Amino acid sequence: MLAKPVPVAMAQGSSCWGCFQSLVDIHLKLADVLPLLDIKYWQAVVDYKLKDLEGYPDKSIAVGFYEGMARTEEDIHLLKVMRQKCQTLIAFGSCSCFGGIPGMANFSDIEQCYDVKFRHNKTVNGGSVPSVNVPAITDVVKPNTDYAAFDVYLPGCPPTSKLILTAVTALLEGKPLELPPYTVCHYCKREKKETPISEILRPYVGKADVQRCLLEQGYICMGPSTWGLCEGQCVNKGATCRGCFGPSPPIMKDHGAATISMLGTYAPIDPDKLIAQVKDPLGTFYRFDYPTSHLGRIRIKHEEAERRRK
Ligand code: SF4
Ligand code: SF4
Ligand code: SF4
Repeated sequence: MLAKPVPVAMAQGSSCWGCFQSLVDIHLKLADVLPLLDIKYWQAVVDYKLKDLEGYPDKSIAVGFYEGMARTEEDIHLLKVMRQKCQTLIAFGSCSCFGGIPGMANFSDIEQCYDVKFRHNKTVNGGSVPSVNVPAITDVVKPNTDYAAFDVYLPGCPPTSKLILTAVTALLEGKPLELPPYTVCHYCKREKKETPISEILRPYVGKADVQRCLLEQGYICMGPSTWGLCEGQCVNKGATCRGCFGPSPPIMKDHGAATISMLGTYAPIDPDKLIAQVKDPLGTFYRFDYPTSHLGRIRIKHEEAERRRK
């Protein structure tokens, strides 16, 4: 038991709050954890304001969680303040680690995003981009690490409650957090026969053999290239892995490219046929980590160059 509660801060950039929901989902274990926390900031839960966070002495908060990506100027400011005030800063969830689902906004440019969201949104007549009492939005989703360095990465969309509990307990006790490096396949109970894929199938096509590897049956499963911190929760319940925990530590850099390369090994199919069979390749292979990928970096540079040119 700790001598006194540890000062912590929970900050939310642009996100869906699912990661903090997963923290709350610890349920009864919260009764053990909460007394150990001296919550200094958690904008959606505790009535502290940003100026309170800004007013704390630098490094006076032991552990900080930053959920979401930094899409607005306010998000970026919050992330930088968190870095300044926290000794250990955690990239909490895949949005924070890699850009996450909102990072797919970079598939389009900002004007196209405005069109879909505001100007030509089917639920709005005469829509316009809001500009009053809202923070400025950035032209492109950049990885959070472009704005601040993190000490710990806890990926997942969202991270599982078990993983959060393990991490929080270790960090609060001042112990090193050692996470297993295995991929999702390591935890998958399905049988692999090393048989090549003859055809790529959409998830709803046919009826998968419940005992056998889904990838070998033609369903795109990102288990071989995805960090298995979830312990294979989807593949062991009948669904393919969509890669929400991002790349495993030996790969780390480009999850999508690793998956495409893996698919090339498993599926000796003519490349043109393969491309035709994989619908929405960007959304399939880069769903959770486009901004941090090599391809995504090129896109960010392109968008920035376009902005400078205009
Ligand atoms: S990682 Fe997933 S659950 Fe967490 S904030 Fe992002 S979208 Fe939501
Ligand atoms: S590819 Fe998917 S289904 Fe096959 S063993 Fe790996 S995690 Fe399981
Ligand atoms: S099996 Fe894949 S998609 Fe499912 S939780 Fe784990 S990493 Fe995410």
